[in-house]
Amino acid sequence: MNDLKFGRQTISLEEAQRRVLQHVRLQETEEVPLFEAYGRRLAENVCAGSPLPHFRRSGVDGYALRASDTAGASLAAAVCLEVVETVPCGSVPVKTIGPGQAAKIMTGAAVPEGADAVVMLEMTDAVHQEIGLGGTVAVRKAMNPGDNVTPVGEEAAAGEQLLQKGCIVGPGETAVLAAFGHSLVKVYKRPRVAIFSTGSELLPVDAPLEPGKIRGSNGYMLACQVQQAGGVPLLMPFLPDETDRLERELLAAAEQADLWITTGGVSVGDKDVLAELFGRWDGELLFNKIAMRPGSPTSVGLWRDKPLFALSGNPGACYVGFELLVRPYLRASQEAPDPLPSAATAILDADYDKGSAYPRYIRGASRVEHGTIRVRPAGRDKSSIMVSMKETDCLICLPAGGRGARRGELVRVLKIGD
Ligand code: AMP
Ligand code: MG
Repeated sequence: MNDLKFGRQTISLEEAQRRVLQHVRLQETEEVPLFEAYGRRLAENVCAGSPLPHFRRSGVDGYALRASDTAGASLAAAVCLEVVETVPCGSVPVKTIGPGQAAKIMTGAAVPEGADAVVMLEMTDAVHQEIGLGGTVAVRKAMNPGDNVTPVGEEAAAGEQLLQKGCIVGPGETAVLAAFGHSLVKVYKRPRVAIFSTGSELLPVDAPLEPGKIRGSNGYMLACQVQQAGGVPLLMPFLPDETDRLERELLAAAEQADLWITTGGVSVGDKDVLAELFGRWDGELLFNKIAMRPGSPTSVGLWRDKPLFALSGNPGACYVGFELLVRPYLRASQEAPDPLPSAATAILDADYDKGSAYPRYIRGASRVEHGTIRVRPAGRDKSSIMVSMKETDCLICLPAGGRGARRGELVRVLKIGD
């Protein structure tokens, strides 16, 4: 579809996302101390450097023994074994367990040679035990070989891949890294994102309101979204609607930033400075119109090898534009395996009337009830409405055409914010 007046060609969101992802530049990598790796994306696959566990490990406190010695043992009929040593955690057993023998052992300690099972302390009675002398233990349970013994490599074989490049380092990943001795972890550098809010109506947060002016909220909102996506926001001063100034400031920020986001000035009004910049710059415009609501004029270009995401100034459109285009880019630049938002099916909990034929991405609030996702629009869904964002945890997608959707219909929802 061509917009003759403004020379805009409309593309689908899927095509816009494809073009964005085609131009992803992988972030550089860095090594950080293990503790600082939390929340970052791994830049290398991690394999087990040794089997886990690397010794036969007792799963209980009790006695290591030969299972065959306990045949026929029961609560009523104990089998007596000679206790030849005690193996606390962290020490190495020195004796081999022979027929009729046992070693007292703690959870996590190395099972001695010759033993093939550990009986729980609760199923035994120690008899004649004296300091320095092993004594005897009465075992009241028949054991099978392997009982309560964790074999070498049960959790991981040596060389087995445990963590995939691009995954987020969370508590579980950190435990794996620690267990395999990674005091330094190779991660992707966090993408630095210069955020520019444009609009001569914008006041700083600490300024009193003035007629015709508003406090700029999009920049702060975007800064949070950038952080959620693993990036570092560089919140730039608000810019008036002056294209020369915008151009200068964007270029000045290029040194410190991996990408730019602008908000505002991207549609077709007199003061739409981004639209004007795209008309005269030496960058490459990837698209400047998407068949979607909100945010159809959302534009993305490449300039000096960096992407410039020009999001709408309307808070709702700005939020949605970030989730559908910028977040996938940030994720992909840190090698996330699935950069696009994941989709699920949900039951719509309220009627929704749709004014335009474009696909619509409605800010939604979801909950799980009896194992089913139910979703409703988060507050009023006009692109200019800002307060609905606070409840938003997903986007409800209504396809092209049609007039909306009725309560009880199944709808597609996109997960956001991770
Ligand atoms: P624009 O995209 O510049 O035409 O702006 C669309 C609407 O969003 C206008 O009502 C603006 O005042 C508003 N707006 C633009 N930038 C911001 C911002 N940073 N924070 C909050 N609202 C904004
Ligand atoms: Mg504006």
